[in-house]
Amino acid sequence: MKKDKEYFENVQNRHQKEFMELQDHCTLCGALLEVKHQKDPYLGTLKEEAYCPHCEVRTRNTQNILH
Ligand SMILES: [Zn+2]
Repeated sequence: MKKDKEYFENVQNRHQKEFMELQDHCTLCGALLEVKHQKDPYLGTLKEEAYCPHCEVRTRNTQNILH
């Protein structure tokens, strides 16, 4: 599992990344992803993280600036 996790966190291919960001379900096992949103009112950012509890893979980790 450690090898898989590293692979997913190091995905640099833009197309692959965009595809993964559209998913609500794990691309590996189809389980519903746990999506966490964390607002930072001081920095004005919204952090989004999607995690598959089944594969123990984090598939999405973005930070957006709120307006
Ligand atoms: Zn999975």
